Amino acid sequence: MSHVMNTYARLPVAFSHGSGSRVTDTEGKTYLDGLSGIAVSTLGHNHPALVAAIAAQAGRLLHTSNLYRMPQQEQLADKLAELSGMEEVFFCNSGCEANEAAIKLARFYGHQRGVDNPAIIVMEHSFHGRTLATLSATGSRKVQAGFEPLVSGFVRVPFNDLEAVRAISEHNKNVVAVMLEIVQGEGGIYVADLEYQRGLRKLCDENGWLLICDEVQCGMGRTGTWFGFQHAGILPDVVSLAKGLASGVPIGACLAAGKAAGLFKPGNHGSTFGGNQLATTAALTTIDVIEKENLLANADAIGKLVRDGLGLALSGVKGVVGIRGQGLMIGIELDRPCGDLVKLGLEAGVLINVTADKVVRLLPSLNFSADDGRELVERLAALIRGFLSS
Ligand SMILES: *Cc1c(COP(=O)(O)O)cnc(C)c1O
Repeated sequence: MSHVMNTYARLPVAFSHGSGSRVTDTEGKTYLDGLSGIAVSTLGHNHPALVAAIAAQAGRLLHTSNLYRMPQQEQLADKLAELSGMEEVFFCNSGCEANEAAIKLARFYGHQRGVDNPAIIVMEHSFHGRTLATLSATGSRKVQAGFEPLVSGFVRVPFNDLEAVRAISEHNKNVVAVMLEIVQGEGGIYVADLEYQRGLRKLCDENGWLLICDEVQCGMGRTGTWFGFQHAGILPDVVSLAKGLASGVPIGACLAAGKAAGLFKPGNHGSTFGGNQLATTAALTTIDVIEKENLLANADAIGKLVRDGLGLALSGVKGVVGIRGQGLMIGIELDRPCGDLVKLGLEAGVLINVTADKVVRLLPSLNFSADDGRELVERLAALIRGFLSS
């Protein structure tokens, strides 16, 4: 039927345009977007400042490759360093590529310290991407099955369990890094405890390991701070970014600091498209709008509004296990598989997602208004009640 390879079970809808928190399909029906293209459309749809910046840049220059200097890329690296406390940035085009760079950097670091078989501690229920190294790092058999042999050099532990990491530090001399999502996204919206994050930072320091934070989903303001790790007041050695960084234009970034900085030299890593003029202009504009429109505070406030609202609207409803998250990264866990809710939402005009089988996931744009938030609560609560009672 279709010449598109069958890698996604797509919903029977196509959108033709959008504005703010709304998208309209080719039949003219409008939807409230509670997912923003999986945490990508940071500024919602059709933000005038972003549209103007992209159009202007497209009219000048899209791409020249990394064989030449790119002022926009240098500016974005400066800005990301300022916001994160990190020192240098490698640009690529997606989350898995940012994590590939992080994994290569950790191995490179290990070899320079005389570790011939460097290993990285990774988490259960993590998600790091679909390339061979990142699917090997991912804590999901579904992602790995059929693609063996996996890339070696990963040791898995339960999430939020500092003692499990400490135990490995006592016998495994090949470990060079710990890699985790500060808020696990695909795994079902699990937030890393603040004390756990600080404990990991300390363990990494004591053992000379790199702390790698995959902030592909939770970074760029989504949790109410620029980066998830900032809630704990820690500084990682390596950070990966992608999804929300340029509000829909493909881009990824791998940030390094301290002992992870200055390792890569020309020839060690690269990307043809990475950080080109179009993508870095979109990212700079995204950051500018987040600052001007005070969207970190908004993500925090609207996130609370939605979580509290859902807490009230669903209190006492049998089948609701819990509501959790941080900022505009929200999960509602039910006691049963609830993938059908996505279709019911579509019929009702609300875009949501279900992950880890039983967790309704919300990732609205950072400029969701209080009215948008209240509407999402009301409509989603009705959907969930209906689903659970049917
Ligand atoms: C989406 C995601 C990735 C993979 O990003 P792609 O752009 O799809 O390669 C990696 N890590 C996390 C935490 C993600 O949410």
